Amino acid sequence: MQTSFVYQALPTRVVFGRDTAATLPAEADRLGLRRLLVLSTPEQAPLAARMGQLLGDRVAGAFHGATMHTPVEVTERALEVVRDRQADGVVAVGGGSTTGLGKAIALRTDLPQIVLPTTYAGSEMTPILGETENGRKTTQRGPKIQPEVVIYDVDLTLSLPPLMSALSAFNAIAHAAEALYAPDVNPIVALMAEEGVRAIVEALPQVMRTPDDPDARAGLLYGAWLCACCLATTTMGLHHKLCHTLGGMFDLPHAQTHAIVLPYALAYNTPFAPEAMARLARAMGTDDVIGALLRLEHECGIPLALRDIGMPEAGIEQAVAQALANPYANPRPVEAGPLADLLGRAWRGTGV
Ligand code: NAD
Repeated sequence: MQTSFVYQALPTRVVFGRDTAATLPAEADRLGLRRLLVLSTPEQAPLAARMGQLLGDRVAGAFHGATMHTPVEVTERALEVVRDRQADGVVAVGGGSTTGLGKAIALRTDLPQIVLPTTYAGSEMTPILGETENGRKTTQRGPKIQPEVVIYDVDLTLSLPPLMSALSAFNAIAHAAEALYAPDVNPIVALMAEEGVRAIVEALPQVMRTPDDPDARAGLLYGAWLCACCLATTTMGLHHKLCHTLGGMFDLPHAQTHAIVLPYALAYNTPFAPEAMARLARAMGTDDVIGALLRLEHECGIPLALRDIGMPEAGIEQAVAQALANPYANPRPVEAGPLADLLGRAWRGTGV
């Protein structure tokens, strides 16, 4: 048992259930917001329009330009709309990319945010913002970034295609797994991490079989929420830092990179994180966490090699150099030889 720790609760209000998007006007009224800007990606503009209809005359405008990795030039275009429409808050409906845009606006304006997540990436629960400018991604934390209200509506996730759902779910599992061996883990985070992984591992196979099953989707979203809470308050280690490095250097897709790297990063840390691995084993109902993760990924049809998602082989050496240049907390020391071995295996997809 952990006998010494710090726990800081974060203030986001969470509304969870089916058809909870219907509470959007009431949640806006609770915050006293009358001129909301609705954000989405171009693909989810019709969904944003539905949210706009729900909000009625509380809508001041819409911006459908959200894109992966929160480029600063997109934020600047959105800020022009914020100023032009005199928005007093933002509604972000979508995945981590749209949530990221809402956070980037809030960081610069302190406008309140209401987020309706449609993936399992978990950005909505965190005070973390990653932004890209001139090809460089930087990450920061801060209270203005933390959304005020998150409305989890299970029905908004039914349309997420099964493979994307699985990739996103593995992104969520990664938050919980690394929180379990974080230097700032505490008993509440450990409980949330274990329960989050349990819920995801239980629900994901059912979502793959019947993506429109609301009960299975509710289980997955509930697990993703818990995993996001773990990410919000702990320091991530090797896995997240590697994914960040690889994503930035080779423009790899976020969720795919997480899914492929996770078993390898966990295998690297396993001998140095026995309590975390025991919790994961209990959550997954197995003695072989890494094997079970790889099997589940295979069953979900997730690509299992970094070379299959566009990483060049020569990139292994570059990524090792970059990872070593920025030291970070990790249960096992990050060393060139073992790291190159980890990345070589993940690149080939040969298993751990
Ligand atoms: P995403 O938001 O980029 O969405 C991917 C695509 O799926 C988009 O085209 C989107 O419109 C579409 N989509 C989303 N939900 C859908 C649905 N229900 N039905 C159909 N299509 C849907 O993907 P993501 O994985 O959610 O987010 C990735 C981004 O989030 C990255 O930039 C990552 O860095 C960031 N992120 C940040 C944090 C944080 O705490 N700051 C945490 C996790 C992820």
